[in-house]
Amino acid sequence: MTQASTAAADAVTTTGTTVRYEHIDKTFGNTPVLHDIVLEAPGGTTTCIIGPSGSGKSTLLRCTNLLEIPTAGRIFIGDQAITDKGADVDRIRTRVGMVFQNFHLFPHHTVLDNVTLAQQQVLGVSRDEAVETARANLAAVGLAAYENRRPSQLSGGQQQRVAIARSLAMNPEVMLFDEATSALDPELVKGVLAVMRDLASRGMTMIVVTHEMRFAREVAEQVVFLDQGRLVEAAHPTEFFESPRSDRLRSFLDEVL
Ligand code: ADP
Ligand code: MG
Repeated sequence: MTQASTAAADAVTTTGTTVRYEHIDKTFGNTPVLHDIVLEAPGGTTTCIIGPSGSGKSTLLRCTNLLEIPTAGRIFIGDQAITDKGADVDRIRTRVGMVFQNFHLFPHHTVLDNVTLAQQQVLGVSRDEAVETARANLAAVGLAAYENRRPSQLSGGQQQRVAIARSLAMNPEVMLFDEATSALDPELVKGVLAVMRDLASRGMTMIVVTHEMRFAREVAEQVVFLDQGRLVEAAHPTEFFESPRSDRLRSFLDEVL
């Protein structure tokens, strides 16, 4: 890691940025998708979100970096109410990185350029500094030797690790993962989860939508169950998996475990 990103990792470890959802509603047209979500993802911890398809998991994550705007309620990143009028969306997206199921890399750019472009264009750092940061982050995800490849010349797992490095190069305080391993062949999942575990152990605040129950059990401090746009249950993984309180969560776990 570069000095800057090491310092950032240390800062996250000691302070950590908390994400707070205060009574979030989201409707698309007339369709309510999130209802009165109240949740805190404490600084430096990992929160896993699970739930059936269509329950609003992606929408909640997308609200967290303003890819969607909540219909009601407020979201705080640290002390900043990002949903208030006049919030600087570009600045907020540098504080809150997001990794998607399908990587969203630029296909015509090299791996190195995928990791440097936003640094230069959004953060305004010099090419040399962007390259140095990119190389440190590519090394951290095990891809130092791949900087001149195009995304199509990498496996899905490698592409996803590039996407993670690209997010980390922006020096975010919070990382969001939306089913980051769902599109991968089974043998490639492990390497991506290992990178996510490492990030969690270094104290990044993470909110992770996932079907990987073992990851949730072993890495998360908190697991959240969404169903039909409502937060049904949030608990420490031991309690969540071993003593679910609601019938809905119990039957969901019966299906997936
Ligand atoms: P999940 O990630 O849990 O599968 P989503 O957040 O993607 O759920 O979707 C929740 C609900 O919101 C679904 O019914 C989906 O069809 C609907 N939805 C999501 N995005 C949009 C959109 N841009 N316009 C209209 N409906 C949407
Ligand atoms: Mg989704």
